[in-house]
Amino acid sequence: MPEKNYRSELVGLFGYPVDENPTVITMEAGFKSLGLDYRYCTMEVKPENLKTAVAALKALGFKGTHLTVPHKVSVIPFLDHISEEAGLIGAVNTVYIKDGETFGVNTDGKGFIQSLEEDKILIEGKRITILGAGGAARAVAVELALKKASRITIINRSRERGKELAEHISSITKAVSEFVLWESAVDTSLNGCPIPADTDILVQTTSVGLYPDPACPNIDYSTVRPPMLVCDIVPNPPETLFIRKARANGCRTLTGLPMLVNQAGISFKFWTGLDAPVEAMREATMREFGV
Ligand code: NDP
Repeated sequence: MPEKNYRSELVGLFGYPVDENPTVITMEAGFKSLGLDYRYCTMEVKPENLKTAVAALKALGFKGTHLTVPHKVSVIPFLDHISEEAGLIGAVNTVYIKDGETFGVNTDGKGFIQSLEEDKILIEGKRITILGAGGAARAVAVELALKKASRITIINRSRERGKELAEHISSITKAVSEFVLWESAVDTSLNGCPIPADTDILVQTTSVGLYPDPACPNIDYSTVRPPMLVCDIVPNPPETLFIRKARANGCRTLTGLPMLVNQAGISFKFWTGLDAPVEAMREATMREFGV
C-alpha cells in the first residue's frame, strides 16, 4: 500500500480587512489544475500582529504568503531579504520561504508588464500617463521605467504622494518623470483633468471604480483618444466604467483581470517551483466575477 501523506503545503494571504479578497479562487484553481496538495489560507492579520504572523510562517512551515492592504510596506523590516525591484518599489506583495529564510518580492508591476507583453505592446520609448500614486501605481511605474519607458507622468490627487513618486522614478531610472496635481479629483465640480495628448499608454491605478463603487475617475474623457492604449488595473468589475468610456472613444483597452492572474501566476512559481497553469487560474477568476 502506498504511503499516505495527510499534510498539505501551506501558502496564503495576510490583509486587514481581507474577507472580500478573491485571490484564493485564483490560486486554488491553479493548485487543483496541477494536482498539487496546496492550501491557500486567507488570513486576517491586524497591523500590530504582522511581525508575529511573519515569524509564524516559518514556525508553521508555510511556503510563503501574499500581502495586501495595509501590510505591503510595513512588512519589509520583518523579512530576511527583499528583491532589488521590491526595494525600488518600496513594497512587497509576495513572500516566499527558502532554507528557512523569508524573501520579499513584488509581483504586481511584473503582472502588469506581462499582460502588456501578452498583447504584444512594446514599452521601450513609450510615454506613459498614470492616474494614482498608491502602492500599485509605484509597482507599475517602477517596472515600466525599468523596461525603458521614456516618460512617466503621474497624475495624483494628493500632491505629496504624487510628487514623491515622480521624483523617485526620475532618480532611479532614465525615464523622465513629472507630476500633475489632480485638482478635479478633490473638487469634482471642476472640469475633469486633461490627459497629455501625446500619451501612448494611460494606466488607471486608483481605487475608483473598484466594486462596489460604480464611479469612474474625474478626467476629461474627450482627451482620451486613439491611438492611446487605455488600461485599468481595477480587477473587479473587469469592465469598469473607465474602460467602457475609453472603448466608446475608440481606444484599445486592457482590463485589470490579466494583471491579477499574471501576478498570482508569478507567486505560484515562487511557491511551487512550477509554471502556473494561467488559463485554469484565469477561467476560475472570471467565473467568480461572473464574466
Ligand atoms: P492605495 O490605497 O495604495 O492607493 C490608492 C490610490 O488611489 C491613491 O493614489 C489615491 O490617491 C487614489 N484615489 C483614491 N480615491 C481617489 C479618488 N476619488 N480620486 C482620485 N484618486 C483617488 O491602493 P493600491 O495602490 O494598493 O490599489 C489601487 C487599486 O489597484 C485598487 O483598485 C486595487 O484593487 C488595484 N490593484 C489591482 C491589482 C491587479 O492585480 N489587477 C494589484 C494591486 C492593486 P491619494 O494618493 O490622493 O490618496
